[in-house]
Amino acid sequence: MIGRHAKLVPPAPSSKAVSAVMRGNRGRDTKPELIVRKLLFAQGYRYRVHLKTLPGRPDIVFTKRKKIIFVHGCFWHQHPSEVCPLRSHPKSNTGYWTEKLKRNQERDQATERHLCELGWDVLTVWECETQNTEILIQRLRSFLGHTSAINNAVSLPNTLQSPDIRTERT
Ligand SMILES: [Zn+2]
Repeated sequence: MIGRHAKLVPPAPSSKAVSAVMRGNRGRDTKPELIVRKLLFAQGYRYRVHLKTLPGRPDIVFTKRKKIIFVHGCFWHQHPSEVCPLRSHPKSNTGYWTEKLKRNQERDQATERHLCELGWDVLTVWECETQNTEILIQRLRSFLGHTSAINNAVSLPNTLQSPDIRTERT
């Protein structure tokens, strides 16, 4: 089991780069997630966000399709890709970061397993993959199926979420 209650005290960011990464990935409604939500909305998909009733409070949920999309920051969730430009490991406080990031990965895997057991299809979109929107749209469409196949907007008018893109300083 993961020792959820053991305390991990974050060290001070060791460099401007690390601080920037931490800022950019903190919490919900991160920029990559908003990019994905905006694309989906523009394509006609309707969805719910951060559904508390599901394990891991998934980022984007298609209730009728039984599909879920997570948008993961490459650093916090350690994108398992050799070519990812964003996953870099901090060079200092490596013990802290290794442990912290390992826990994040283990939690992600457990969450995905749990959701699959409940009958949900899960797609993970990585932060670095939001930089090429054409390829991303193709992936989203092939995962979700055609927009008109099932339209949540018809029966769930109160759950519509606008993409709510905010201007963020980078
Ligand atoms: Zn990545």
